Amino acid sequence: MSLTQVKPIDIRREALRIAGERVHRDEVIEVTYPYTGEVIGTVPKATLDDIRRAYRIARDYKPTLTRYERYQILMRAGEIIASRLDEISRVITLESGLCRKDSLYEVGRASDVLLFAANQALVDDGAVFSCDLTHHGKSRKVYTTKEPLLGVITAITPFNHPLNQVIHKVAPAIATNNRVVLKPSEKTPLTAFVLADILYEAGLPPQMLSVVTGDPREIADEMLTHPDVDLVTFTGGVAIGKYIAAKAVYKRQILELGGNDPIIVMEDADVEEAATLAASGSYKNSGQRCTAVKRMLVHEKVADQFVELLVRKTKALNYGDPMDPHTDMGTVIDEEAAIHFERVVNEAIADGAKLLAGHVRSGALYAPTVLDHVKPEMTVALQETFGPVSPVIRFKDIDEAIRISNGTAYGLSSSVCTNRLDYITRFVRELNVGSVNVREVPGYRLELTPFGGIKDSGLGYKEGVLEAMKSFCNTKTYSLPW
Ligand code: NAD
Repeated sequence: MSLTQVKPIDIRREALRIAGERVHRDEVIEVTYPYTGEVIGTVPKATLDDIRRAYRIARDYKPTLTRYERYQILMRAGEIIASRLDEISRVITLESGLCRKDSLYEVGRASDVLLFAANQALVDDGAVFSCDLTHHGKSRKVYTTKEPLLGVITAITPFNHPLNQVIHKVAPAIATNNRVVLKPSEKTPLTAFVLADILYEAGLPPQMLSVVTGDPREIADEMLTHPDVDLVTFTGGVAIGKYIAAKAVYKRQILELGGNDPIIVMEDADVEEAATLAASGSYKNSGQRCTAVKRMLVHEKVADQFVELLVRKTKALNYGDPMDPHTDMGTVIDEEAAIHFERVVNEAIADGAKLLAGHVRSGALYAPTVLDHVKPEMTVALQETFGPVSPVIRFKDIDEAIRISNGTAYGLSSSVCTNRLDYITRFVRELNVGSVNVREVPGYRLELTPFGGIKDSGLGYKEGVLEAMKSFCNTKTYSLPW
């Protein structure tokens, strides 16, 4: 394993940020660089008292930022992030093993989130309703106004985008004058602290954001049930999402859970384009995106051609040392995850799938892998495989494609490769998902636009800056006699 690109690592000993105050604890969680296993940092294990203090301070603080001040803070944070792009990308790569190309891309996305949230903070989306609309109407008007929540927002995020997952919760909260207690994933917690400091530096009143880390078995229930919590926004796996749904009783819940997104390639598709989308959708971010291409459903008439191109593109991918700027794909989050992919791929091969590329593991590094002749009921296709695995399933016609696509518990997003309007209209109507992208990867979106899934992928309440801002507000109406 060559480490030529890695500078000596200074271990970051992080502190909690309780309303901006740095709090150290003797008990810590180690954060490791998945490529080498080296410890690159530690974060404190918060106590229950730490958690309660964070909520108490947040509850007692009533934000008064004007729309313009919120805009300024978010824009300034974006400028600071842009000026520290390289450093932040390095932290993301160190704690996640994502390659520099992926972590640089992620920092760019975070800037977009800040830009959209800043601009949206300037928009007053209040509505006016005239009341003289029916025979018993009156000459008055009902007005709506959005108010921040009375209580506090609990935000819990996964490991796969250490910056972007966090910023998608924090920026809309700032734009709406809310207070947040954030718990990033204990696997990738360091970037969240970097972001919090940037926001404080940009002028955010520290009472509006606390960042806590710890063992979820010790602190998560308090974050879900504390009486001062009004809303829980969670991104992560289905199992924990459903646990939260049952635990956080009478709290508003935004749950963005797992996915098993297909790319569906019809017989009229541009097969070269489809294979390019399939490979990038499957391997970007080491395959660890909720909207990664996790199943490739290909019409039997073009399947051989598609598979040949996919294998070529897969083998051309440069995977390995995450710090090497030429690397296209780094590691997955840890060795345990890589061993899991190895296991489900072995199981598929034993059940008749054909291995055409990859399936080589070294620690947390797992080669981009192509499996052909996969059956929809095999674990590798039925369950979410949160890694760089491309299972190809062949189908005969659109009915079968839709049936297979809808045949898992998930319903996040999808990609369809065709130019036929009759096919496109059927896919848009009949796929049970939150998004359908024609001739684009399932993950395609603007950071502003509505995003989120149904079935086991979520409750249908969306994220994306606009929708998150709506969820984070109470709508108050008032009426006036003119
Ligand atoms: P995870 O569910 O294991 O962990 C997510 C977060 O939940 C972490 O911060 C963890 O500490 C916390 N947690 C653990 N136990 C908890 C508990 N009892 N109560 C409350 N919180 C608890 O997910 P992960 O492995 O970090 O991320 C991968 C998963 O996230 C995949 O399934 C992926 O599809 C999903 N994901 C979904 C989206 C989306 O927008 N739909 C985006 C990215 C990732």
